[in-house]
Amino acid sequence: MSYQRLLELEKLISIYDNAYHNLDVELISDEEYNILYLEWKNLLKLFPDHESAIVAGFVPNSGKLVPINEPMLSVNKFNDKEKFLKLAKRYGKYTYEEKLDGVGVRVLYNPDGSIKSAHLRGDGRGGKDITSRLYLVKGIVKQLPKPTGEETEVTGEVTCTEEDFKNYCTEYGLVDKTARSVVSGFLRRDEEAEDETLQLHFIAFHASKNIRDKCKTYPKLVKWFKDHGFNVPNSFEEFPELKPESVFPIDGVVIKDNKLENWDNQPITGYYSFAGCFKYPTDVVLTKVTGVTWGLTTQGFLTGVINFRPVPLLGAILKRCQFHYPALYIKNGLRIGSEIEITRGNEIVPKLLGMVEAGDGDPIAFPDSCPYCEDQLTHPEPDVYRCENNACPGQITARILRLVSDKGLDINGIGEKKAAQLIASGLIEFPHDIFTLTKEDLTKVEIKGNKATKLIAEINYNRKTKSLANWLFAMAIPELGEIRSLAVEDELSGNEEELSTTSVLGLLSSIDALKDLFGIDGIKIASYVIPNYRDLEIFLNYFDWENYTGHTQETKEPRTPVAITGRLKFDRKVLKDILRAKGYCLDNVVTRNSSYLMIGEKPSPGKVALAERYDIPTINISGMGIEDIIAFLEARK
Ligand SMILES: [Zn+2]
Repeated sequence: MSYQRLLELEKLISIYDNAYHNLDVELISDEEYNILYLEWKNLLKLFPDHESAIVAGFVPNSGKLVPINEPMLSVNKFNDKEKFLKLAKRYGKYTYEEKLDGVGVRVLYNPDGSIKSAHLRGDGRGGKDITSRLYLVKGIVKQLPKPTGEETEVTGEVTCTEEDFKNYCTEYGLVDKTARSVVSGFLRRDEEAEDETLQLHFIAFHASKNIRDKCKTYPKLVKWFKDHGFNVPNSFEEFPELKPESVFPIDGVVIKDNKLENWDNQPITGYYSFAGCFKYPTDVVLTKVTGVTWGLTTQGFLTGVINFRPVPLLGAILKRCQFHYPALYIKNGLRIGSEIEITRGNEIVPKLLGMVEAGDGDPIAFPDSCPYCEDQLTHPEPDVYRCENNACPGQITARILRLVSDKGLDINGIGEKKAAQLIASGLIEFPHDIFTLTKEDLTKVEIKGNKATKLIAEINYNRKTKSLANWLFAMAIPELGEIRSLAVEDELSGNEEELSTTSVLGLLSSIDALKDLFGIDGIKIASYVIPNYRDLEIFLNYFDWENYTGHTQETKEPRTPVAITGRLKFDRKVLKDILRAKGYCLDNVVTRNSSYLMIGEKPSPGKVALAERYDIPTINISGMGIEDIIAFLEARK
């Protein structure tokens, strides 16, 4: 399982790397990238024999290309300070400099010191010619004051000041752009346009070998840049412990080997060997482990939640998070009291980033037997533990939680604790027992009076009104998540046959039909449904078939997928339910099929970039009410 994740991460990271380095497109935020990268690095330790597939990709460039004489590479980024500081030892004499987050541009000069051309990084052999765009950029010297008598190249970063960028965004109402993507867009255009009111700057950091041979050391090259009228990045005497302030957007701090002869003979792709960049950690806190709570998934696989000393981060107090890759941490000696790093992935969910120090408390270990039913756990795969007992209360608890979740039947008032109590007291043996609970039953688990009445009413109401897709999700069938449940409902509603438990399970146990719908995952769905047919049948018989009219939406057309990102003024769930009834399907991910991307406050830059890439229209809904959104969508149908 974790090996699959490793491969998946490698695929993702190379897509992002490629987009970033070769296309100057930032598909995800630095923070999101960092988290993926750290997850990958941690996971890699589990598979020491694995040969990493992460290499710089090749993407052909469009338009006129200028041949590249010396490779234009990127600087290797370090998250680990110790490893970064080791470069200082390797180089002996070095310079610390801010690493500007802009677009790499190389300017070629004729022997008489006039500009010959300028180009972007490109694919290693040729970079897009942007000579006609240089009027946008301040700081590019048009005529070298002391011509060298030979062709000369000066490479630098093109960027804009943070303040200019902020004003530019206000002026054009941009909410979702990074400075880098706007700068890149300006440089790549073939024609002048009216919105080019943002001042770009060129900051030099590299020159061709003829100049390097003359200067010998980097400080002398910096002096050469200044003497010829170029701007250079800010430099630091010592490694700055905190991310330095800059008028320009910066990535971190770069260290450069001062001996310029070491800048010769660079690889064709990948990273420069004479420099490295330290990326300052974003929003990471240290805390100590207080224990692990083991649980089971709906299919009986062991999962863990790691508990730690409460720690504040970005306005929330964090106490626990999902224990991903427990085998890795246990192997490395995780204990009570171990110091760990926590971040908040996607701004919300706390995430374990790594262990800083093991300490000397009691070691954490995998349990031998199921934490619920005490059956011996099996190992279907290395580092994967499973309780095979179908009637295990742990497994039933997980299924009940899925059933009551908002994507399922959305029943409030039953959390993990109450679910466990209902099972322990024998009131619930199978998930469908929830439909026959009485007020007296609930009294036994301390749900009394009004609360009990309300809960029973909610169960009954939702049982009758929730869509078939909600029911399908609630059934906890592996590989059948929210979006696929909707697809199954759509598929069934398109059939002539009257819908019933039999027709639904007929589709769900048809390997061929599901393979057509979901490929290999479809086969997995059917291979689960076939042996569990009887249990699923009992469950689905509680569905209100008599009053079911196919889709809960007004038309029976397949739903139009609409993607969403950012925060809203109102509850996202309410919007989702209303859109669903109107024939839309609200999705958290942007796909080629999305008809719109709705953007709220603080959207994910990755989703916005994807929408741009797929040419999906965006709607800024941060000021809109639900009615406005529906009206907008309906008007464009
Ligand atoms: Zn068990």
